[in-house]
Order: sequence, then structure tokens, then C-alpha cells
Amino acid sequence: MRIAVFDTHKYDERALNEANVGQQHVLEFFEERLHDKTVELAQGFDAVCPFVNCRLTAPVLKRLAEIGVKLVVLRAAGFNGIDIAAAQEHGIRVARVPAYSPEAVAEHCFALLLTLVRKTHRAFNRVREQNFSLDGLEGFNLHGKTFGALGAGRIGQCAMRIARGFGCKLIAYDPYENPQIAKDVGFDYVALDTLLRDADIISLHLPLSAQSHHIIDANALTLMRQGVVIINTSRGGLIDTPAVIEALKSGKVAGVGLDVYEMEEGVFFHDLSNSLIQDDMLARLMTFPNVLITSHQGFLTREALHAIATTTLGNADAFAAG
Ligand code: NAD
Repeated sequence: MRIAVFDTHKYDERALNEANVGQQHVLEFFEERLHDKTVELAQGFDAVCPFVNCRLTAPVLKRLAEIGVKLVVLRAAGFNGIDIAAAQEHGIRVARVPAYSPEAVAEHCFALLLTLVRKTHRAFNRVREQNFSLDGLEGFNLHGKTFGALGAGRIGQCAMRIARGFGCKLIAYDPYENPQIAKDVGFDYVALDTLLRDADIISLHLPLSAQSHHIIDANALTLMRQGVVIINTSRGGLIDTPAVIEALKSGKVAGVGLDVYEMEEGVFFHDLSNSLIQDDMLARLMTFPNVLITSHQGFLTREALHAIATTTLGNADAFAAG
């Protein structure tokens, strides 16, 4: 198939070219995201391959159908940028990559957590200035702490297995309980309030929905332990950012690690036209030395990119084979 790949970085090109064994597909790479202003780039292609933050609205899908595109192979799990009903109406099939590497995201959660609790980011900055002072760098052991996972799906389970290796006690809140998984991984399901009260580390591994929006709000923060550490590698809207800023100011929260943030729209994936610094809440968060922010890169490992590329092209193969 002739596939137009949008919103690409060098790492996408490398992973997709490697997965395109025997060059069974003709791939063309565009740095642009796919939306109403860029849709004409898909002229002459059978399929488009957008990334998670594309905008495939009804008019975009209508135009894609008019210019002969029959397939969307999304190289991500989240398809909220695609109007699925409109795709159906215009006879365009949509395929995605439901899971690629839970380990990549779970390990990133620990990259944030260990950096925060051992303050290695602060030590690194000091040492670069020839300052070897240890003042203010006291951390705490993960061993013996209670690790609370909000969401015990693929990534939550993987994070808990890692936490178990550190000697943490494991608890999880998930509305869909699976006793066999709890037994295998070695955690206890608890009610949401219990998790908020008992966990020393709260790590978010649940999807964003109407029910989970701002699951970490001022009320939830009130229930938490003094000195709790919160890690969010899931979706920014799960956390009420001003409430967390207040809890950081009061010292209730000892550390916050964010790979995702509420105001991600627009700054998502290094869109330099919207400087991070212009965003007031992000700028306020970054004033705290015990806040660590990364740029939604939990998925960004060689192994995850390989899995994404292989599944994406496998979806194109399956379509081509009928
Ligand atoms: P999953 O579907 O395997 O697991 C999600 C779990 O959350 C399920 O067990 C579900 O029952 C549970 N859940 C649903 N609503 C809940 C609620 N209100 N409270 C508590 N639990 C709830 O998904 P996953 O693969 O583990 O991914 C988890 C999240 O990680 C995704 O939703 C996505 O937002 C995020 N993610 C981030 C990155 C990144 O690069 N940072 C990459 C992939 C996924």
C-alpha cells in the first residue's frame, strides 16, 4: 500500500522503515500533523498513518475519501482525535495499536519516581556547577513504602511488579477487579479512599474519562498522607493542577512527577509554536524543585517504537489481504 505517514520524527522513520520488511509498502513521511490544513498531502495515497494528536474530523475524513484514501492506520492507542462514525460513513477503515509496551511506560514512571525521591535531578544540576553539597538532598527508601496504583491494567500491573522488586507493599484501586491478577502480581484491591489514605506513592494508570477526570482533586489530596509522592504517566486531565499546586505549597505533597499534564493540548510533542513557558500553570509547576516534568515520552523506547511500527504495518497488511 502507499501510506502517507504524518507527524513524524526521525525515530518514527527509522522504526517504520525497519518494520517495512521486504518494502512491501511505499512509505512517505511528513512532519506535519494530519488535519484540515494538511489533508491534501494525502493525495495519491491508499492509507494515512497519523499519530495520537491528529484531528480527523468529519470534513477531513470526507476529503480523505474523495482523494482515494481507504484506510487510517493510527500508530497509537488513543483514537479520540478520529471521528469514527464519520470514517464509517465515508467507507474508511480505522485500525490502531491497542497495546505496544506497558513496560516502557511503567519504567518511565520509576524514572520519575526514583529521581524525585533521591533528588538526582537537583544533585546533577549542582555537580555541573562544581557544587558537591548534600544540603537538602535527603531522600527516602522505596523499600517498605506502600505503592498505590490507580488502575491495575497493563501498565499498572507492570508498575506494581517493579515496585514489588523494590520491596514496596502494593495496593490498587480499579473498578474492575480481577482476583487472579491480584494474586499473580501480589497486590490487594482497596477502595479509592483507602488507597488515597494509605499510599506513600500514588501512581496513575487509568484512562481519562468523565468518571476519572480530576480524580486527584482538592478532596482527594486532603485524604492523602503527609509527604505523599504522586506520579502521572496517564493523562493530564486526571489531576486538578491548581489543587496540586496548593498541596505542593503547603508541603503536603513531597513530590510530583508528570509525563502528562492538563494543558498538554497545543504543547503536546514539542510543538514549539506554543512555548511551554507561556503556559501559566506549567510555569508555576516548574517553580517547585520537587516537581519533575517530562514531555509525554513514556512510550518513547526503542522496543515500544518497534512494536508500534510492526503492529501498524501489520494492520495495513491485514487490510490489504482483505
Ligand atoms: P489498560 O486499559 O490496560 O488499564 C487501565 C485500567 O484502568 C483498567 O484496568 C481499568 O479497569 C482501570 N480503570 C478504568 N477507570 C478507572 C477508574 N475510574 N479508576 C481506577 N481505575 C480505572 O490501559 P494501560 O495500557 O494500562 O494504560 C493506562 C493509561 O496509560 C492509558 O489510559 C493512557 O492514558 C496511559 N498511557 C500513557 C503513555 C505515555 O506515553 N505516557 C503511553 C501509553 C498509555
